[in-house]
This record gives sequence, structure tokens and C-alpha cells, in this order.
Amino acid sequence: MLLTIQNLQKTYGNGVKALDNIDLSISTGMFGLLGPNGAGKSTMMRTIATLQDPDEGSIQLNDINVLESPTELRKVLGYLPQEFGVYPNISAMELLNYFATLKGISSKKERGEMVKYLLEITNLMDARKKAVSSYSGGMKQRFGIAQMLLNNPKLIIVDEPTAGLDPAERRRFLNVLREIGSDHIVIFSTHIVEDVQELCNDMAIMNQGKILLRAAPTEAVAELQGHIWSKLIDRESVESVSAHYQVLSTSYNPDNSLNLRVFADGSPGAEFREVQAELQDVYFTYLNGFKS
Ligand code: ADP
Ligand code: MG
Repeated sequence: MLLTIQNLQKTYGNGVKALDNIDLSISTGMFGLLGPNGAGKSTMMRTIATLQDPDEGSIQLNDINVLESPTELRKVLGYLPQEFGVYPNISAMELLNYFATLKGISSKKERGEMVKYLLEITNLMDARKKAVSSYSGGMKQRFGIAQMLLNNPKLIIVDEPTAGLDPAERRRFLNVLREIGSDHIVIFSTHIVEDVQELCNDMAIMNQGKILLRAAPTEAVAELQGHIWSKLIDRESVESVSAHYQVLSTSYNPDNSLNLRVFADGSPGAEFREVQAELQDVYFTYLNGFKS
């Protein structure tokens, strides 16, 4: 499967250019769309999901021209929005069963098997008799996935599902995505670098409506080896020292000293040591425009 986005543009009425000439092709597997708040991730995802129109551009999923035939796309789409609705006060199992009926799965046995399978892969079996309205944020997100999978979608779009989840819920959610990733296109947006690190075989870094980098995470990290340098500095000198370098990040040590991490082609100076590049370094290198 192949999703091809060409020259996608969107400027909102207030003048914000949310999509600035996006070209992107995405094939089967887990694709991470990584960017800070306001980057344009939700705009892009809503546009692919045919919930809003771009000003310009084209989107093609295999032989479906998405913008010309939105109904065709919707038949194969599973979309989990960043914020989603209020659930009624009935149990997860009943609600899934109800949605399955709406989907036209008329055999009670088939419905039962489908619902059981979905509760299992989303790790909600134990909570199946609880009202979805009483679920935690992470459980609601997983229920959203179960509901989405009823359609047997080929293209799955999940918008910032881990934002606001606690670490255990986040882990369970990532595991659910991992289960479903293999034979679909899954586009997964996040501002959390570790989400992409743990889950995605392909990614794009996005900011201000533009794609800054398109790469496999492991290759992007490999490209930066030899360019990441670190130095221990004290807290007082952070601003004066930082001004001289392309700073990626600073992190505190328990003794209140700081590790300064910088991007540089060769050694930036005495006391710097070369360190292993990480995906976090890739993210900040491209967000800051140290490399393009
Ligand atoms: P992200 O999902 O990466 O946080 P969004 O697509 O939500 O980014 O937003 C991209 C930019 O477009 C932001 O500057 C945001 O404020 C703006 N924006 C989003 N939706 C609208 C809208 N309906 N009207 C005006 N501006 C919007
Ligand atoms: Mg968003």
C-alpha cells in the first residue's frame, strides 16, 4: 500500500500556514509524524481523513484519489482524533457489539467473536463489563482503537494518542498499536520522541507546516554520529556558554551541574567529548535548523 501526498497546502483564515507545500509518501508500516504543538500535524491528519479540504494539492491511496473520492477513502479509513467524544454509560462489550451491528455484522456469533478479538488485542477484556464513560484516558484511547478496527481499515490515522497518558497507560497503548501495525499503513502523530523511537520504522519531523526531515529513525540517528558533543558546565554559565554553540539540549545532574549537548561538524572545543547520537538529537537538530 502506498499513500502519496503532493504539494499539500492549507492557510487558515487567520493567515496561519498550517500546511506549507507538503510532499510525502508513506508505505505499509508504522509511520511517526513528529513535531511540536502547532506544527500542523492535526491539520494534515484531518486532511488525509477527508474531514477538511486543503487549498491545494493531491492525496492518493493506491488507486483512490482521496480528495475526489472521499467516500472511497472513508471505507478503508480508521481515524482516531486527538480529542474525541463523550461515551454513553454502557459497557465496552455492549457498545462494541452495538457498533458492530451498525456496521452490518448481522450474525450474532460473528459479532461476538469480533468483539472478543478486539477486546483482547486492546487489552480491555478484564474491563469489558465496565462503562466506557468510567474508563481512564488510556482505556478510552484503546477503546477508540477497538471501535476503529471494527471497520477493518487499511489506513489508520491516530492523532497524538499518547499525550496525557501516564507511563503505564502509554506503554499499553503503544503495545496495542504495535499489534496492529504490520499490514496497514499506520500514521501516528506525537510530540514525544520516544514514541517514534519505540514504535516507528519510518518518520517525518514536521514544524510550521513543513517537513524538515523524512527518514527511517535508525538511519537518521546514524547520520548524526560524529556530530554530537557534550560538555559539563555549571549552572551560572549556561547562557554565556550556550551562545557560542548550536545547542540541542541541556540536562541537569543531581549536583546542579548541566550537560550541554551541541551539534557540530568537528570538535567544538576543549572539554567537549563526542557522544552517541540519539533520536532526540535528530529532532532538535532539524527543529533548530542546524542541518537540513
Ligand atoms: P498540531 O496538531 O501539530 O499541534 P495543528 O494542525 O493543530 O498542529 O495546527 C497548526 C497551526 O494551525 C497552529 O498554528 C494552529 O493554531 C493553527 N490552526 C489549527 N486549526 C485552526 C483553525 N481551525 N483556524 C485557525 N488556525 C488553526
Ligand atoms: Mg494536534
